[in-house]
Amino acid sequence: MSQELPSGDNTQQVADIQWNEERQPICQRFDDVYFSTDDGLEETRHNFIRPSRLAERFPALNKDEVFRVGETGFGTGLSFLACWQVWQQSNSPGRLEFYSVEKYPLDRTQLKKALVQWPELAGMVEALWESYPSVPAAGWHRLEFNGVVLQLFIGDVLDGLLELCRTKHLRFLEQNRQFDAWFLDGFAPAKNPDMWREDVLECITQLSRRQATVATFTAVSAVRKSLQARGFDMKKASGFGLKREMMAGDFTGPPNEERSWPSSVFSKLNEAPWDLQINPTETQRQVCIIGGGIAASCNARALAEAGYSVTILERHKTLAQEGSGNPQGVLYAKLSHRPETLSQFNLHCLLYAQRFYRALLNNTGANNERSFEAELCGVVQLAQSEKQYAQQGQLLDYLAQYGPTEDFVQRLPAEELSRVSGIDIDKPGLYFPDAGWLNPASACEALCQHPNIEIRFEQEVENVMRKGELWQCLDASGQILNTSHLVVIANANDAKRFQQSAELPLKPVRGQVSYIEASAGSEKLQTVVCGRGYIAPERNGQHCLGASFNLHERTLDLRLEEQQSNFQHLQDDCPSLFSALNTEDEPALRGRVALRCTSPDYLPLVGPVHDAAAMQERFALLSHNAKATIPTPGCYHEGLYISVAYGSRGLCYAPLAAAELLSQIQQAPSPMGAMLRKALNPARFTIRDMIRRKSPNPAVKA
Ligand code: SAM
Repeated sequence: MSQELPSGDNTQQVADIQWNEERQPICQRFDDVYFSTDDGLEETRHNFIRPSRLAERFPALNKDEVFRVGETGFGTGLSFLACWQVWQQSNSPGRLEFYSVEKYPLDRTQLKKALVQWPELAGMVEALWESYPSVPAAGWHRLEFNGVVLQLFIGDVLDGLLELCRTKHLRFLEQNRQFDAWFLDGFAPAKNPDMWREDVLECITQLSRRQATVATFTAVSAVRKSLQARGFDMKKASGFGLKREMMAGDFTGPPNEERSWPSSVFSKLNEAPWDLQINPTETQRQVCIIGGGIAASCNARALAEAGYSVTILERHKTLAQEGSGNPQGVLYAKLSHRPETLSQFNLHCLLYAQRFYRALLNNTGANNERSFEAELCGVVQLAQSEKQYAQQGQLLDYLAQYGPTEDFVQRLPAEELSRVSGIDIDKPGLYFPDAGWLNPASACEALCQHPNIEIRFEQEVENVMRKGELWQCLDASGQILNTSHLVVIANANDAKRFQQSAELPLKPVRGQVSYIEASAGSEKLQTVVCGRGYIAPERNGQHCLGASFNLHERTLDLRLEEQQSNFQHLQDDCPSLFSALNTEDEPALRGRVALRCTSPDYLPLVGPVHDAAAMQERFALLSHNAKATIPTPGCYHEGLYISVAYGSRGLCYAPLAAAELLSQIQQAPSPMGAMLRKALNPARFTIRDMIRRKSPNPAVKA
């Protein structure tokens, strides 16, 4: 499936900053300042915050209503912080989402250095620094700060804005105009015309709600005229400090339904929108989630925090009894230097999941939530061959285009890996300092501890049925277990039992982990080590190592040969650790077997559940007119969603996949970007099959 993911081009994408005598950042590339060297914070308030009337608009929001700010040029994040500060002071009952684009990201050290000059922002600077991606790689990054969301796109401004437009297929839906305020902050138009191009301003217009505001430090007449021509009533005002003028205005242009895309922009969006679905209205806030593993728990938490009332139906007596039931799960994902969809997805999931679990760990004690057991103690990934070692080098080179990588991943010789892991290692490899292991069951419990989440155990759903505007979940005897507006199927391979999701190409993969008693030598292991297999540090006197990978097998019996293979992998990966453990004395069989669920392309299925027959019929019409855009209502089961096929990466995928599903339910822009959203859409296999059978429809792009 072809994907136009932002990949970077291996040339340096980093901010090239020169620090002036007052330790203020100057951008050498554009020979311009990030903010006024007199008082950047006051300038930001003058140019953006006050003209956008945020202090009035924030408190006027309804409960859970989302206010979206868009910014061109994230830079140091100062405008974001100034906006967040007003948000905090406003006590708004709503939610704030701040979208920003940045082609040349600062690294975390530069960010802190630039922002440290404002003690009043110190707490927020610290929080931003903690969450700022340790590798600001191309694509979207979602940062969360107690209900305030920052969505940062690393890449060119136009690509970022088009992503937002694509996500929403703006032509179809009135509610897709989602932005309330814009900060245009992309260096002076004369120095950096790319940020002020007509198609950039057009995207901004298309994404704006009626009465959206635009504010900018420049009053250059070409920009003013262009915005005025698009319906913004731009007014000049006095500039900050020595600057003569700035300008701001409200969108008073045509109503949403009368705005159409100009062909210059539209041509870039013109692809068959098979992933478009029209959701039930935002008032439908009761959700039933089927399943009780990490997918269900992350989805439940994301929905509950957004104000949904969530019921989990779980067939066992406790959470995390199946695929998420191993005592130690590794938080880690395989990355590649190639900008393939799976690798991009893995990278963004890992970056997000590391922040997500760290925040959960920090919060768990504070809110008296049930204890969450995890050690983000680092993961070592051994190079198993010269070739793999070279590939690891290519990965580092690829990531290095976005700045220093060592906070996220380091490529170390065997001696250094021995030092960080605490045991003798005889191979070089990668070290991910913020990854680690979790006890998935405790993560599920901590996540589900929320006033908006009810868990009902021993409820086995056999059928889901649409009844009027609602969904019913029924057991095998036909008894209704629950009725809700929305249903999220999160029960892995068992999704096949429901008529609506029966045809999805889910594949079970049997996996056996082995337990082995820790020894004095093995207790020194401080990180997870992955190679042919994996082993985690000692927990309750034993190590968990694994795991076998048997595609299409469904049996759950413990097998000696799989235990031996787990031991063999450990011996190959870490001979010294292997000899420190007494595998000879191990009781015949100790471990656990569970089924993972995977898909043909190893990407999860996250999104609305489609009706394959309806979709084939609907898109066949396009053969008459390849350029026709046919909306897809009727191709998806309204209000029925799925989130499955995480393979053995459930811990890594579940947090971002849950944020993604929430944004789909809310018709909001994707936290991972439109291209990845499409790549996870459960209907992709139907579309692919249509193409493979030489669909007469060239407009249907997978
Ligand atoms: N709002 C920022 C702050 O609070 O620090 C200052 C923004 S600075 C004036 C302009 C930013 O736009 C720079 O960080 C620059 O790297 C970024 N930029 C320049 N050209 C860009 C492009 N084509 N796409 C995306 N970002 C770009």
